[in-house]
Amino acid sequence: MSVNLQTPIDYLKGVGSSRADLLRKELGIHTFQDLINLFPNRYIDRTRYYKINELQQTNAEVQVIGKITGFKEVAQKRGKRLVATFQDNTGTMELVWFRGQKWIRESLKANKPYVAFGKCNVFGNKFSMAHPDLELVEAHEKNIRSAMQPVYPSTEKLSNRGISNRVLCKIMQQLFIDSGGKFAETLPENMRSELHLISKSSALFNVHFPKSSELLSKAQFRLKFEELFYIQLQLIIKNLVHKSKIKGLPFTKVGDYFNTFFSEQLPFDLTGAQKRVLKEIRADLGSNAQMNRLLQGDVGSGKTIVAFMSMLMALDNGFQACLMAPTEILSVQHFNGLQELCKPLNISISLLTGSSKTSERRKIHESLENGELQILIGTHALLEDKVKFKNLGLAIVDEQHRFGVAQRSKLWRKGPTSPPQSSQGASIPPHILVMTATPIPRTLAMSVYGDLDISIIDELPPGRKAIKTVHRFDKNRLNVFRFIRDEIDKGRQIYIVYPLIQESEKMDYKDLMDGYDSIARDFPMPKYQISIVHGQMKPADKEFEMQRFIKGETQIMVATTVIEVGVNVPNASVMIIESAERFGLSQLHQLRGRVGRGAEQSYCILMTGHKLSADSKTRMETMVRTNDGFEIAEVDLRLRGPGDIMGTQQSGVLNLKIADIIKDNDILKHARHQAKNLLKTDPKLALPENQVVLNTYKQLTRFKNIWNYIS
Ligand code: ADP
Ligand code: MG
Repeated sequence: MSVNLQTPIDYLKGVGSSRADLLRKELGIHTFQDLINLFPNRYIDRTRYYKINELQQTNAEVQVIGKITGFKEVAQKRGKRLVATFQDNTGTMELVWFRGQKWIRESLKANKPYVAFGKCNVFGNKFSMAHPDLELVEAHEKNIRSAMQPVYPSTEKLSNRGISNRVLCKIMQQLFIDSGGKFAETLPENMRSELHLISKSSALFNVHFPKSSELLSKAQFRLKFEELFYIQLQLIIKNLVHKSKIKGLPFTKVGDYFNTFFSEQLPFDLTGAQKRVLKEIRADLGSNAQMNRLLQGDVGSGKTIVAFMSMLMALDNGFQACLMAPTEILSVQHFNGLQELCKPLNISISLLTGSSKTSERRKIHESLENGELQILIGTHALLEDKVKFKNLGLAIVDEQHRFGVAQRSKLWRKGPTSPPQSSQGASIPPHILVMTATPIPRTLAMSVYGDLDISIIDELPPGRKAIKTVHRFDKNRLNVFRFIRDEIDKGRQIYIVYPLIQESEKMDYKDLMDGYDSIARDFPMPKYQISIVHGQMKPADKEFEMQRFIKGETQIMVATTVIEVGVNVPNASVMIIESAERFGLSQLHQLRGRVGRGAEQSYCILMTGHKLSADSKTRMETMVRTNDGFEIAEVDLRLRGPGDIMGTQQSGVLNLKIADIIKDNDILKHARHQAKNLLKTDPKLALPENQVVLNTYKQLTRFKNIWNYIS
């Protein structure tokens, strides 16, 4: 017998319309299928029977065999409670009811062996169990039950309205009875036998009613694998569709700009990782598909030069290139740096930000449209409609996590217009390279950016000294100040950063100013010069202060997190982070990356108050322990969970039913590998043995228009 799994949950025996409403609202269960995919959070071992003298005060669920030897009623504030004495050959305990007492007293038989199941507590000096599940031992032995009792996800409303875990188990049982426990297979036979995966029916049965812990782990493995496999399949197909549908601009050659720069001007040898990544980018640009690549590399790993050399590839093929950065300061810095590199090559380059003057803007707009301008650097100002390129071939986004999806997709439309015969003059998207110094843990990247190609720079330029990080409490401030003085005497520069968080902006601002005052007192002019930069200053003032620090006219830079991103002052070797407990791990790591850019030993000092939460402690310890951005990202993922890290934007991908993106890392890699292989041998899922994959895939994607994902 088989049932249609798309049947509304109302039609399951024992559910009915009011329970169905609750299941829909509270657990999102609409159909039989949804119910079958409600997986237990945990299991209770029901193979073990406790003797009363073995009970412990753990509030755990246990089962005890014994006899009821008597009842008594105890008056209490409101109404009364019914208490039964429950006894085995090792001692006595109490069973307690606050409701339904009449019925219970009538239905329970004295001096017959029962199995009592429930949470065990201590009251007075006796163990007691409130509202236990009671079953006569005779009946208990006859019932088929799983050794491990599932505990399903629940909500307060559900349990208040009578849908207890027991009821959920019963409903689930009903579904298995109605369906005969037979469910359509969703993975191909050959894959299952190769990977030793149990059948779908057996997996579903054993995840809901495990016969043994071995079968339970097999069931969980199979279902986790399946879940991750289909997510990866979707992502990889999306990527393939993209490559076949979205034609790329042909960068056929590596030309003079690139070659001259590489052989005559490159100020240092590229690291192995930089070379590898450039090759990956070159391969993309030379293919017929549009590049859509994420470049991850820790702070200071040298992404900028990779970006610049990629731009040279565009220029060599007669295209323009642009680089967008999230802040004015960072754009200016990129512009200044790249301008130097462009000069000897006679490349025209401009900067466009919110504070560019109207006359400048006009010139930029013009020279962009007539093609005189080859490279444009800027903030999101370059997304404005007025900014039109003659033939943009490559768009690079630095610190991409700072931009929204909508902003990034605007870049897509800045490409050159295709010849009218192809698609009514629609634009051809430029190649896209997005860069980030906030490493995304590999597992998460696979799931969230599985449709992008990913390059990783996992090697720092040679000669860098690892930054020494320490954690100091506010009361050690005098020592810290002494240390600052010594470093300044050696000719170094110092950052002191204060948190700035939207909700408490006013107070943060006050903290910053108080901090500035006290530093100004301890480091008096004229011996010491201090810069201050924060979000409430005019861009021109900010830039002025920044420049004073960059030129070495000031030794101390007091700032809010505006300096977090990308700022490069090699002589600055000390980063002091005030109220470090208020920063997230990735932000702390970003901030620390501002130092350690020169030849000198650099330091990062994390200042906190004395009282720290467990999470804050972990964050400080992690920072002190390691400089590896990927390791930090993994800890961050464990502390905050994937949703928080990626924002709600991609949470759909992460809405996993059974797999855990952190713990099931290995299964994920496995699943991605299998999905890739399958599509390699059968790209259209046309082989008869893969019919089952195609069908499942269609089922899963039926509400998504996957062809239309570019917004
Ligand atoms: P990030 O990846 O954080 O953007 P940058 O591109 O700003 O890092 O590079 C950091 C510093 O390292 C810059 O001063 C840059 O000139 C230098 N750099 C980059 N690559 C190398 C290399 N291969 N050898 C030596 N120095 C390098
Ligand atoms: Mg950078």
